[in-house]
Order: sequence, then C-alpha cells, then structure tokens
Amino acid sequence: THFGFETVSEEEKGGKVYQVFESVAKKYDLMNDMMSLGIHRVWKDMLLWKMNPLPGTQLLDVAGGTGDIAFRFLNYVQEQYQRKQKRQLKAQQNLSWEEIAKKYQNEDDPLGGSRVMICDINREMLKVGQKKAFDQGYKAGLAWVLGDAEELPFDDHKFDIYTIAFGIRNVTHIDQALQEAHRVLKPGGRFLCLEFSQVNNPLISRLYDLYSFQVIPVLGEVVAGDWKSYQYLVESIRKFPSQEEFKEMIEDAGFQKVTYESLTSGIVAIHSAFKL
Ligand code: SAM
Repeated sequence: THFGFETVSEEEKGGKVYQVFESVAKKYDLMNDMMSLGIHRVWKDMLLWKMNPLPGTQLLDVAGGTGDIAFRFLNYVQEQYQRKQKRQLKAQQNLSWEEIAKKYQNEDDPLGGSRVMICDINREMLKVGQKKAFDQGYKAGLAWVLGDAEELPFDDHKFDIYTIAFGIRNVTHIDQALQEAHRVLKPGGRFLCLEFSQVNNPLISRLYDLYSFQVIPVLGEVVAGDWKSYQYLVESIRKFPSQEEFKEMIEDAGFQKVTYESLTSGIVAIHSAFKL
C-alpha cells in the first residue's frame, strides 16, 4: 500500500491509517463536502433508504466516527415510528392531529426501541462525532465505542444491521472484518456497506482520474495542510476491489443473498447481504 511515496507493509498499514484519520479528523466534514461536491450526503441518504430500518432495530455502525450514518438512522427511525404510532392512534381513537401531536410530546422513547452503536478505531474521529452529536442535540439512542473492525468488542448475534460507510477499504484484513460483521449479526441480520468502487463509464472514469489525482491532493494541502493523507485516500480508493470482487469476498465470509447497487456511474456502490 502506498502512502504518499512510501511503501508500507501490511503490518504498518493500521498505524498509517490511524495517522491519516487523526490528521484529517478536524477538517473531515469540510473536506468531504468539498471533494464530493456534497454528493456524499446523497449517497449516505441512499444507504438509509436501502436499509429502511423498522422500529426497534439495533444497528452497529462500524468506522462510523463522524456519526453521519448514526444521525441519519436516528432521524429515520424516529420519523417512521412516529408516523406509524400516529396512524395507529388515529385509527383507534377519534383524536384530532393536534391532540395526537401533543400526546407525542410526552412520548418516552420516540425511537421505538431503536438503538445505534458507533464503533471506530480512531479516538479523534469519535471525538468529532461526539461533538457533532452534542451540537446537533442527539442524546438518546446512541453509544460510542473505540474498537477495531477486525476484532469487534461485542458478543455474537447482537445486532440486526451492520453498516460500514467509507470504512472497509481502510481495514488491513478485509476478510477478517467481514467475518466479524457476520459474527456479531443476529441470524436474519443484514450487512450494508457503502464504499468507493469501480467507475463503469470510460469518459467519467478519465475525468474522475484527473479529478482524484490532480485536484484532491491539492485541495487537501490548501484546506487541511495535508497533501499526503489525501493522496493516501485517493490511492486507497483505487486499490479497493471491484463491485463483483467485493461481492465474492462478502460471500466468502458466509453471507447470503449478496447484491450491490452502483451509484453515480460506480464511483460508489452499496453492497447488501444477509446472515441466514
Ligand atoms: N463512516 C464515516 C463516514 O462515512 O463519514 C467515516 C468514514 S472515514 C473515511 C473512515 C473511518 O474508518 C475513520 O473514522 C477511521 O478511523 C475508521 N477506521 C479505519 N480503520 C478502522 C478499523 N480497522 N476499525 C474501525 N474503524 C476504522
């Protein structure tokens, strides 16, 4: 794996990845918006639409330091739960919508039992997420834990859904992380991964190459004063397996019904799989 002009061994990769995210943590959101022109928000929304979690879902978001997936999950389940409850109430009682809204202000658990556990290996990234949670008023329903995707600090069969967004390509042993995802999911549980993938349109591929190699490291230097980390991010994207190769890796970890959807001409893909 290349980090800038260094070549590092597999053993060194974990340490280097840690340094990269420690360095980019504070400017992470700003850089994400600038590099993707804001499109990463749409990709993350699409992950949630695909997940379509039911009230009561126990989610594990790995490599989720920034909280981006967790906050979307909390918004989604709260909205779904309240909509369902309101429909039920309206059907059972002859209350007006205003009376129902008032009743909801006293609701004990507006998430309907749903919870999200955010796990990340990097303390600085977790701090960024926790600060965002505080600033944006997210209190209930989320927990933060420092942990490695390759050795998750959880019991077997614990979660309904496992997500990992823009995280798995940074893991040293991807096969090990996939096995851990399988282990911690309940039978019937779902694996969802949002990750950069292989562009399937030749013209877009050429433009994307130019943008990635010529523009992103410059942006990294100008905005975050860190050329090398952003060069690493670009290179790690290029080294990640194609949609089909990654699908096979997920199957090798024991998952079934593995499918994927390419978004924005394959710049990213969402892989979905079940533990049956
Ligand atoms: N999921 C967030 C998002 O979509 O905005 C953050 C993605 S960020 C590109 C990658 C994250 O992966 C970083 O927070 C990094 O610390 C984390 N990470 C890298 N290796 C990891 C590992 N082995 N286990 C858990 N997290 C890891």
